[in-house]
Amino acid sequence: MVGDEVVGEAPTEPAPGVRPSGDGLEFSVLGSGSSGNCVLVRGGGATVLVDAGLSLKETRARMASLDLDADDLDAVFITHEHADHVAHAGVLGRNLDATVFLGDGTRDASARLFKGEEDVAPVFARTTIRVGGLKITAVKKPHDAAEPVAFLICGGDATLGIFTDLGHVDDMVADAISQCTLLVYEANHDPNLLARGPYPHSLKRRVGGALGHMSNEDAARGLARCLPSHLRSLVLAHLSSKNNHPTFVRDAFVRHLGEDCDFPRWISYQRRATPLFDGSGAIVRKPAVAEPAGEAVSA
Ligand SMILES: [Zn+2]
Ligand SMILES: [Zn+2]
Repeated sequence: MVGDEVVGEAPTEPAPGVRPSGDGLEFSVLGSGSSGNCVLVRGGGATVLVDAGLSLKETRARMASLDLDADDLDAVFITHEHADHVAHAGVLGRNLDATVFLGDGTRDASARLFKGEEDVAPVFARTTIRVGGLKITAVKKPHDAAEPVAFLICGGDATLGIFTDLGHVDDMVADAISQCTLLVYEANHDPNLLARGPYPHSLKRRVGGALGHMSNEDAARGLARCLPSHLRSLVLAHLSSKNNHPTFVRDAFVRHLGEDCDFPRWISYQRRATPLFDGSGAIVRKPAVAEPAGEAVSA
């Protein structure tokens, strides 16, 4: 049941027939977690993905669940070369005729995925790329990859930030987050579950390190210090399937942001899309899929 995703107050659904203007931004987290990440953003006549961690078939299916056509994709922006973000970039680029944007370091580290037939273009930190009416800016972030970036995407009066795979919130990330009206943000693990969990010691150190992933507590505390006063929606993402649970995520964010935020807080899922949200944070459309049996956590 989609309504179970909300961890704050549910946003008001728009009245039937009321749709954002063509210039407005819409987004959905098509999937998030260590098995594959992909965020869909559309607006200003453009449709783009951030990351290509879902197969072509899954990308098509999850877009179709929101009544969207993957053949309408214009571009795919890649945050870094870890497989859960880049694995299907070449296939999506070739089959959907979408330009793949990625940093040179990311491209070198994932060269095996490309056959030379794709339309590939570079991204540089602090540089803005226009795709239709969307303006996409890369932001350098602390993570153990060759050239890791987050993205700010502006459309209409909304600015969406996509910040997962963060070792910590440094000053540059905090400054970028403070500009967002919509935020997809990592809450990766509970430290106690990570410590007791099945990962080998080296992986536990990597995940919990300053260039790995943020714990729920670190994520909530980091966001509290740069929380935009104009935030309209927060979607928590990249939850570990083995080392986290939505209850722990909720508790940490309530502790640091308070019980009564004036924006909705959602948790994204590994195996299905969130609703499609508009630039105000309201639901445009819910995915037309049944709840997978037994799924209790988002990744
Ligand atoms: Zn990842
Ligand atoms: Zn990563």
